[in-house]
Order: sequence, then structure tokens, then C-alpha cells
Amino acid sequence: MQSKHYFIYTFGCAMNEYDTERIAAALEAKGYIPSDKVDDSDFIILNTCSVREKPQVKILSYLGQIKLLKEKRPNMIVGITGCVAQQEGEKFLKNNKVVNFVMGTDAVTHIDDIIEKAINGERFADTQTDSSSFSISSFSRKEKIAANVTIMKGCNNYCSYCIVPYVRGREVSRTPEEIINEIKSLVDNGVKEVCLLGQNVNSYGRNLSEKIDFPDLLSLVNKVNGLERIRFVTSHPKDFSEKMIYAMAENEKVCRYLHLPLQSGSNAVLKAMNRKYTYEEYREKIIKAREVMPDIEFSSDFIVGFPNETDDDFNDTLNAVQEIGYDRIFAFNYSKRPGTKAFDMEDNVPANVKSERLNSLFALQDSLYDKRLPGMEGIKTEVLVTSINNDKEYPYYGLNMYNRKVAFSSNKNLTFGDTASVLIKNAKRNCMYGIEV
Ligand code: SF4
Repeated sequence: MQSKHYFIYTFGCAMNEYDTERIAAALEAKGYIPSDKVDDSDFIILNTCSVREKPQVKILSYLGQIKLLKEKRPNMIVGITGCVAQQEGEKFLKNNKVVNFVMGTDAVTHIDDIIEKAINGERFADTQTDSSSFSISSFSRKEKIAANVTIMKGCNNYCSYCIVPYVRGREVSRTPEEIINEIKSLVDNGVKEVCLLGQNVNSYGRNLSEKIDFPDLLSLVNKVNGLERIRFVTSHPKDFSEKMIYAMAENEKVCRYLHLPLQSGSNAVLKAMNRKYTYEEYREKIIKAREVMPDIEFSSDFIVGFPNETDDDFNDTLNAVQEIGYDRIFAFNYSKRPGTKAFDMEDNVPANVKSERLNSLFALQDSLYDKRLPGMEGIKTEVLVTSINNDKEYPYYGLNMYNRKVAFSSNKNLTFGDTASVLIKNAKRNCMYGIEV
């Protein structure tokens, strides 16, 4: 019998990557083999994102290509999953004849049934949501050193630019038992590092009957034997508490890296974004975290050109980046998203101004970071080996506790999951290079 292949294109965030892994495991259990080519695949999934405009446009253009392929191979099954699927549901199915099924964000909990229905030739949209509880069974993953583990779904924050609360629903947490069991089974299969995922991990546990919060969960995960590192995303600054700072400091497996999205340095813009903190409150939390963990590194997201953002507002963002001193920033031009509160606001910052501001934000970050690079040379750092390649000079590659990429050489024959102490010889913006000592 000829083998069947599947192909998944994942857009968006780590939550989508996690769902992709679950879908892949379910397809493989049905006998499908992964392929990196859409043209020779029998089962195609586009796991979509609707947070920004660009990926959504890309999805439609990708579907155009798939339509041509399907004309030649009519038995090909095409599924749309993720946030666009949740948002559009039946409408997407009706408007895109090439699509066999549309699966919303909650339907991944019964992915086996969805695949079965699609294989049996049904055409359907499943966008039912369940905000009462969140339980997902463990699933087998390819041998990996680092793995994502979803701890909660949804968001209650309603930032005015964001579609997530409308498509992913209210915050619901998995029980600590289920999370710990999943992590233990990952560790039994060779995983050394987990990244705990949620739209707002700092509000973990609020819907659970037992009294537990995210710092408590970190302490439980820290106790899992054989696990070496813990990361987490994303933290909302308003919920990032002093208790969290001490939990990071006291649990030795938690990486000294915090992604804390500021979005704008202007209090007027933060208010319009409904972020529920001021820049001064945010800065206080950074100062406190640095007081407790002097070596901690930070990263942040920024939206540039939000409605009514003035030059002064944008300068506040530049000043914040200068003052905080981030290890890394992720920034995007604002784009209107249907269904959000900000959709009704006039998108009145011209496109060229947005682009100029975005460029100057990245230029500032690069110049600040470049000044730090020489100070990173000559230091020793612990690296977890996650990939080994044919590069003669630096065959080993991994991340350190500060989430920095490190490529290095060694006299030993290292394998995946080994931890090496690496002396940094050359620090570049995107990677540090060194030798194991
Ligand atoms: S915290 Fe704000 S930006 Fe993050 S998912 Fe929730 S609504 Fe969206």
C-alpha cells in the first residue's frame, strides 16, 4: 500500500506550535508520514493566526496554491485550524470550496475524531468552545530536548488591539496534576527543558478549585526529577507579582529570562490599548526583578503606530527601550483587526510614519545591544545542546539560561541534551560563539 503524507503550515505563536505537535501526533497515529512538501501531501493543515493582518493575507494566498494542487489531486484533505478557523467557522468553509474542514481552537482536544471524520469524507466546521475546564491528554512527540507544555488557554484581558480573547475564549487552566504528569512523561522520553505556555501565565490557576497560582506551579515543576530547565511565556506586566520574582529566583531550573511585553512607553497609548499598567509601574517591576536577580535578561513586544500615537508618544517608547536595556525586542506596525475594540478607532498614523518609527526602534535596540556585546566575551555560560550540525568550526548549538543562542566547539563527543560549559570568544547580535571548557 502506498504511504500517505501530511504537511502542516504553522502561523503565529507557541500555542499554535503546540497544537501543531498534537495534530501531527494524531495524524501519525493514523499512519500518515510527515512531509516538508505541500505538493506530495495527502493531508494538509494550515494552522492559522489572526493576531496580525499579514499572516491572514498569507493564508488566503497559500490556499490559492493549494486549490491548484487539489485540481490535480482531488482526494487531498485540507483542514484549517487555529484562530482564523475559530473566528470564521462555517463562513470560511462556505467561501473556500478547497477546504474539507475547519477546526476551532478548542477542537484540538478531540483531534482524533476530527481526523477520522475528514478521512471518511465529511465536510464540516467544528468551532464549539468550552470555558468550563481545560483538559488535554499527553501525546507522544518526536525525540526532543525541549518541549512546549500548554498550562492554560484563553485570555481575560481584552487589550483593545487583540483578537485572542474573542477567539481563544476566557482563561481556563489545566490542573497541576495533568501538567506535572505531562512533564514527567516528556522527561521519561528525553526532554530536558520545558516551556510553559499560556496567553497570560501569571493568572494561572484562577479558575481552579484548588488554591494554586503560577509561582506555586513553577515550584512544582521545578521538583520534577530529570528536568533541567523551565521557561514560560507570556507574562502580562499587570499580573507579574513580587511572588513571581521570588519564585523565579528560588527555583534554580527557571531560566533567568523574562519576556514582559511593554507594547508602548507612552501612558496615553497604554491606556488606549487597555493594558492596565503605566510605564512607571512596569519599570518598578523590572527594577525589583533586577534587585533580586541581577543577571536576569528581559525581552519585550512593541506595537508601533497605534491610533493617535504622536511623535512624543513614540519618543516615550524609545526612551523606555533605552532605559530598560532589553536583551531582545519584537516589534510590529499596528494593523486593524476586525472584531477588536481598536477596530473602530481611526488608523491615523500613516504607513510611512509607522515604518520609519519601526526602523528607528530596531536601530536603537541594535545600537544598544551592540554596545553590550564585547562585555559578553570571555564569560562562561551553560549551554544545553539541542542541535548538532556539520559546521567544522562550531558543530554544537543550543541556548543558555538567558535564552541566548550559542554555537560552540568541543573536544568531547557531545550528544543532544548534554550541558556544556562554554567560554564565549565572539559575541554577535544573533548568536554567541565559543569553545567548551
Ligand atoms: S493579554 Fe492582551 S495581548 Fe495578550 S492575549 Fe490577552 S488580550 Fe491579547
